[in-house]
Amino acid sequence: MNLEDLQRQAQEDISKVQSIEELQQVKAKYLGKKGLITLAIKDIATIPPEQRREYGSRLNQIKEFVENLLEEAQERLKNLELERELATAWEELTVSLPKWVGALHPISQTLERIESIFVSMGFSVEEGPEVELESYNFDLLNIPKDHPARDMQDTFYVNKEGYLLRTHTSPVQIRVMLSQKPPIYMIAPGRVYRRDDDPTHSPVFHQVEGLVVDEGVSFKHMKYTIEVFLKEFFEKDVPVRFRASYFPFTEPSAEVDIGCLVCGGEGCRVCKGTGWLEVMGCGMVHQKVLENCHIDTELYQGFAFGMGVERLCMLYFGIDNIKLFYENDLRFLRQFRWS
Ligand SMILES: [Zn+2]
Repeated sequence: MNLEDLQRQAQEDISKVQSIEELQQVKAKYLGKKGLITLAIKDIATIPPEQRREYGSRLNQIKEFVENLLEEAQERLKNLELERELATAWEELTVSLPKWVGALHPISQTLERIESIFVSMGFSVEEGPEVELESYNFDLLNIPKDHPARDMQDTFYVNKEGYLLRTHTSPVQIRVMLSQKPPIYMIAPGRVYRRDDDPTHSPVFHQVEGLVVDEGVSFKHMKYTIEVFLKEFFEKDVPVRFRASYFPFTEPSAEVDIGCLVCGGEGCRVCKGTGWLEVMGCGMVHQKVLENCHIDTELYQGFAFGMGVERLCMLYFGIDNIKLFYENDLRFLRQFRWS
């Protein structure tokens, strides 16, 4: 066979191989002990001396060319095999997987729902750090040095003087008031930390707080905003009541209750016989807090409110243990989907 035919033939053979076995056969056919190229090299002695040099160097070129092609083919076949294995594995996996569509965690769904209601009312969504300055978390919010919330038993302090894990998202309100001019209409959703651990309290939970600072803002505006929110959130005309309460950062302050969703107000185990469920705290922003943030209190007033996301989600779905949210048990998580 002449050398050009030999090269063409080898190229064609290699291009057709479909498996590693076939590749080994083609390799043997050309480069094995009795392979065509091996034999041609051995036959060099039979070539007339004046053509021998040219013949030899061409033969070496062809040998190298074939070796390269074989290597490339091997690479290609390995990838092909891997793809086949993956395809088979995927097929087996998809056949064995239950067919159901994934969804957001109920807490994330609740957060999104709360956010979208306030955004539709013109509020912005603000975020802040979870490791917070003690002064933003307490001092500027008018929480006195000896307040029990500051105690090591209630608050997680970090290894740096003046820092802690925020116990509420109120420091985000401080950050916004220090950096933006009124009018302010904002909510601050996020994770907060407290040394609490029982069926209705978790050391890590989620809050949404809201803040409005504008001219002529009154308790009436706050009541209206909260009532609209609760009716939207619970998708019904729930009775809402405001009970006088006390928080260091608001004056006057109130707790907000809704008519019990379980008994409709007659009294049951869930509402402990009262017919009401506590859903959030609120109040007019304390003069001192506004002053701490350099807001002109002659001109501006504000109201603020705060709610636990887990609590609202538990009330909506009738869940009685907060721990269920954090155990990642799909049997639990799959049950909850907002309409
Ligand atoms: Zn009840």
